[in-house]
Amino acid sequence: MKLETLSVRIGREVEPVAGDVSPAIHMSTTFERDVDGQFSRGYVYTRAGNPGRRSLEQCMAALEGGAEAIAYASGSAASLAVFSLLRPGEHVVAPIESYHGTAKQLRTLLAPMGVQVSFVDLTKVDALRAALTERTRLVWIETPSNPLLNISDIAALTALAHERGAIVCCDNTFATPIWQRPFELGADLVMHSSTKYFGGHSDVMGGAVIAREKGELAGQLRDYQETAGGVPSPFDCWLIRRSLTTLSCRVRAQTENAVRIAEFLSRHKQIERVLYPGLESHPGHALARKQMNGGFGAMLSFCVRGGRDEAFAVAGKLHHFARATSLGGVESLIEHRASIEGPHSVTPQNLLRVSVGLEHADDLIADLDQALTG
Ligand code: PLP
Repeated sequence: MKLETLSVRIGREVEPVAGDVSPAIHMSTTFERDVDGQFSRGYVYTRAGNPGRRSLEQCMAALEGGAEAIAYASGSAASLAVFSLLRPGEHVVAPIESYHGTAKQLRTLLAPMGVQVSFVDLTKVDALRAALTERTRLVWIETPSNPLLNISDIAALTALAHERGAIVCCDNTFATPIWQRPFELGADLVMHSSTKYFGGHSDVMGGAVIAREKGELAGQLRDYQETAGGVPSPFDCWLIRRSLTTLSCRVRAQTENAVRIAEFLSRHKQIERVLYPGLESHPGHALARKQMNGGFGAMLSFCVRGGRDEAFAVAGKLHHFARATSLGGVESLIEHRASIEGPHSVTPQNLLRVSVGLEHADDLIADLDQALTG
């Protein structure tokens, strides 16, 4: 089945009792035992499992082409679940410009517990080669990266990590499975902030880790889900599962808008540079063309001529872009990233990041034009 069919069909069977076509929400926290004490209907307690969460997990696993998905209450809860696989003395390599919250988890939660952390420029395979040690257990990849839209070679990095006995997790939040399939490039785990394109409407938090195979890794992540307890509520699962049915339409339409905006910005005299992997001028364009499936996503950043003040001034004049963090929703957002990323940020002060929404591209471009030239 194709992704669009999977996104509508998987885990969305007609409900047996009343015939609901849209799945029911199972709000119960607890489930009845059989007379003999068994749980023949498969559910015990909602922290351990819930029918709506199961439907969501089945669909996310199918969309990524993995064996098992484990849902968490946020993308951050999902990345922390992956980091919980690390033991004191083990080593993790992560991109130097990964999502700042992911880097903060490694710096402030994992390093104090004795995990060795190296932040490396993973756009260069040789940089990973130099960073790997006997103790490297995990390589974390984020491509396209947030917010510089850098592209890392998932297949080459994964092959190298595997040679040295490390596992690889790829944060696929920006690309989504519509444009990038990390399991086909060798990754062991795929992580998502479902708050973004999976949820798609800026109204629900969620996260997921998908394992390529069933087995020990998936088992540990599943155990962590129940034991740490950071699970999404039944309503949040329902919202994300509902939104997955339109994932392909949304991501494709938002990407078409992003291409038009990137082309417009790249010709504008007030713009110093545009960071969008779909542009031929982008240093990762050839690689993105190879490893992404015909689209480059709906996230882009641009650097305004001048500095921080000029960047803020442009964001302040826009009408169709909300000045807000996050991404992947139907509405366009713009954000000055350096001022939110904290002291370790490597983001230029004149950079604005845009999450392109579903408005008409003509309106978005006209708005950007008036903000840049007005
Ligand atoms: N990964 C990426 C690429 C993100 O952009 C974010 C959030 O912005 C996260 C992970 C963390 O997700 P959440 O905010 O759902 O915890």
